[in-house]
Amino acid sequence: MSSYLHRSLETLTDRNPSQALFKQAVTEVFESLEPLLHEIPEIEANAILERISEPERQIMFRVTWVDDQGCIQVNRGYRVGFSSALGPYKGGMRFHPSVELDVIKFLAFEQIFKNSLTGLGIGGGKGGSDFDPKGKSDGEVMRFCQAFMSELYHFVGEDTDVPAGDIGVGAREIGYLAGQYKRLTKRFAHGVLTGKQVGLGGSLARKEATGYGAVYFAAEMLATRQDSLKGKHCVVSGSGNVAIYCARKIQELGGKVMAMSDSTGCVHDPAGIDLDIVTALKEVERARISEYSNRRHGSKFFEQQKVWNFPCEVAFPCATQNELALEDAKALLENGCQAVIEGANMPTTPEAIALLREKGTLFAPGKAANAGGVAVSALEMQQNAALQNWSFAQVDDRLKAIMANIHNDCVFYANKYRRTEDYVFGANVAGFLKVAEAVKSYGVF
Ligand code: NDP
Repeated sequence: MSSYLHRSLETLTDRNPSQALFKQAVTEVFESLEPLLHEIPEIEANAILERISEPERQIMFRVTWVDDQGCIQVNRGYRVGFSSALGPYKGGMRFHPSVELDVIKFLAFEQIFKNSLTGLGIGGGKGGSDFDPKGKSDGEVMRFCQAFMSELYHFVGEDTDVPAGDIGVGAREIGYLAGQYKRLTKRFAHGVLTGKQVGLGGSLARKEATGYGAVYFAAEMLATRQDSLKGKHCVVSGSGNVAIYCARKIQELGGKVMAMSDSTGCVHDPAGIDLDIVTALKEVERARISEYSNRRHGSKFFEQQKVWNFPCEVAFPCATQNELALEDAKALLENGCQAVIEGANMPTTPEAIALLREKGTLFAPGKAANAGGVAVSALEMQQNAALQNWSFAQVDDRLKAIMANIHNDCVFYANKYRRTEDYVFGANVAGFLKVAEAVKSYGVF
């Protein structure tokens, strides 16, 4: 390891002693950059690693709201603006009890490179709260969102910071946040929030974008081995926004989704998952995945089990960070898995990635494979700015082209440094170089 890299990682640990996820995300990117550090001395001379791993701003605030029993509840809100080198901070908000500064920082850091890969002029940010929307009434979710935005609105804006959704934040929550923004500022939230419902200025295909994009990326990867998703058995973890539309596109391209999950366990369906049932359960009824087995003859629910133990050729982790560990990678390999495509952010542990790569499995990191969501968010911003509404097909075509470009960039840099099929390396280098150039060009700030 070069002394500059070593020093940078040591400083990072000293400065963020208890932030394991953030450190994991930074280490993975920085270690990839080693060959560049020798080749491009300006990286060290301009202190790029130090500047790129310290957020430009981190905002934490109290969110006070009243539940249906009339009791006052207190949560904590976060918004981290990590890098505005390429454009306004852009990244989702996560509402989940596990949210803390470490989680938001790792997500915001990943977002910098993901956004850079899209080529769309957006910086990296992320936010959220430890609020749990699960089991809350619509009224409670609305009051929480209003309280959250009552503080956040000071910091967001179309040229500064443009939040979107993530775990626990879908079109319903974005609608409530947009409503409060409008009430407080007397301005439409058009350019300030993305992931809006279409009737509120949202883009067609935004809901589908992350999942579809991951599958477009998978198709590009498989094509490099003269292969495709047609006839492939696939497993998809999660059953939220990313997972559902990932599964739908797999089926459209001729694959068969054998298993899906949520935080309570997974369902396996030998006839292939019926997505109409999953969509009704998750998008309409907000029910648990276990209910699937009551509605579909021949399927089975496995409590607290992951989808990785079922035979498949392609796996799509689409739920949460570090959900695919070393033992899961071993199970996938034993069951004949040939490709893993991350729909979620950092779902695969470093040990699992190392094993999969060693065994020749195609592996697509989330910052490349799940960039379709933020890419269409940027297209939503373009439509809002131009007062236009593009058709589903127009947006979907742009998404497909963006995913193909990201794939090509990854392959280009992997090949350039003789790291054939190393998509982690290719994505990190392609994402980093653009940001580093911008940071240097701005001078010291
Ligand atoms: P959703 O809230 O719509 O769905 C999340 C899914 O993951 C649910 O099925 C949930 O189950 C499951 N899940 C969450 N936490 C855990 C856990 N600790 N253990 C097991 N399962 C869990 O979120 P999204 O689909 O939007 O996001 C999924 C992933 O994709 C996240 O990593 C997110 O950062 C990433 N991502 C999302 C984008 C988007 O556009 N939405 C864009 C890019 C990345 P349960 O309901 O039981 O909690």
